[in-house]
Amino acid sequence: PSLEQETVEELSHRLLEITAQLNASNRSLQHLQQERTEMLANLSHDLRAPLTAIRSAVDYLTSGQSLSAQDIEGALTLIDHRTGTLEHLIRDMYELFTLEDPSHAFSFQELDAPAFLEEYFYTALPDSHYAGHLLCLSVSQDLHATLFADPGKLIRILDNLLGNAAKYAPAGTKITLSAAPSADLTSLRISVTDEGPGIPPEDLERIFNRTYTVSSARTPGSATGSGLGLAIVKTITERHGGTVSCENAPGAGSIFSVTLPAKFLQS
Ligand code: ADP
Repeated sequence: PSLEQETVEELSHRLLEITAQLNASNRSLQHLQQERTEMLANLSHDLRAPLTAIRSAVDYLTSGQSLSAQDIEGALTLIDHRTGTLEHLIRDMYELFTLEDPSHAFSFQELDAPAFLEEYFYTALPDSHYAGHLLCLSVSQDLHATLFADPGKLIRILDNLLGNAAKYAPAGTKITLSAAPSADLTSLRISVTDEGPGIPPEDLERIFNRTYTVSSARTPGSATGSGLGLAIVKTITERHGGTVSCENAPGAGSIFSVTLPAKFLQS
C-alpha cells in the first residue's frame, strides 16, 4: 500500500476509535442525566411526605375546633419531628450536590492512617449514639499506612458508617472499625462490621446508589434517615480515587468498606 493509502486507513481507524469514545461518553452522560432525574423525582416525593404531615397538623391546629392541651402538644410534636426530617434531608441533599461538584475542592493531605483512625475512634467512643453498643477498634500495630485524604471528609465517611451500624444493629451488639492493606499493598481497606440485620442480598448491589429508594430499606420510622448517607460515603470515596463495598458478615450483620489508595512502609 502507498503511503497515502496507509495514512487514510490510519485516519479512518482513528476516526472510528474517536466515534466509539464519543458514543461511550454520550451513553454515560445519558445515564448520569437519568440518575439525576430519578433522584430529583425521589427527593420531591421524600420532601412532600413530611410537608403533607406538617400541613395537616397546621390545618388541625387552626381549624377553630376546641382542642385539649394534649391534642395541641401532639400536633406540635409531629410538626417538630417532621421539620427535623426535612432539615436532615435538605442538609444531606445539599452536601451531596456540593461533594459531586468538581469545583468544590477537597483539602487533601498526608495522613498517618492508624493514628487518624485511633484518634477518630477515641473521639467517637463517648458519643451517646454508641452508648448502647460495644465499639471495637481493630488495627494492627504493624500497620504503617499513609493516606492522601481530606480528614474532614474521612470523618464524614466514618460517622455515616458507624452511625448506620448503631442505627440498624440492636443494642448490646458489637460494632468494629478495622483497617487492613489490600493484597497488592496499593490501598487500605477501612471497614465497619456490625451484628445487625445485614442487607438483603438483592439490595447489596444498589445500596450505595443515590436513587436507591426501596422503601422497605429506608430508616425505620424514617425520622432521621435521608436515604442519602451511603451515597455521600460513595461520592467522597470516589473523589479520593477509592471504591466502596458492602457484604453480609458471616453469621449475621454487615460489613461496609471503603478502599482508599495508600502507601505502606514495611516494618
Ligand atoms: P438512611 O440510613 O438514611 O436510610 P443510608 O444511605 O445511610 O440512608 O442507608 C441506606 C439504606 O441501607 C438504609 O435505609 C438501610 O436500609 C441500609 N443500611 C445501611 N447501613 C446498614 C447497616 N449497617 N445494617 C443494615 N442496613 C443498613
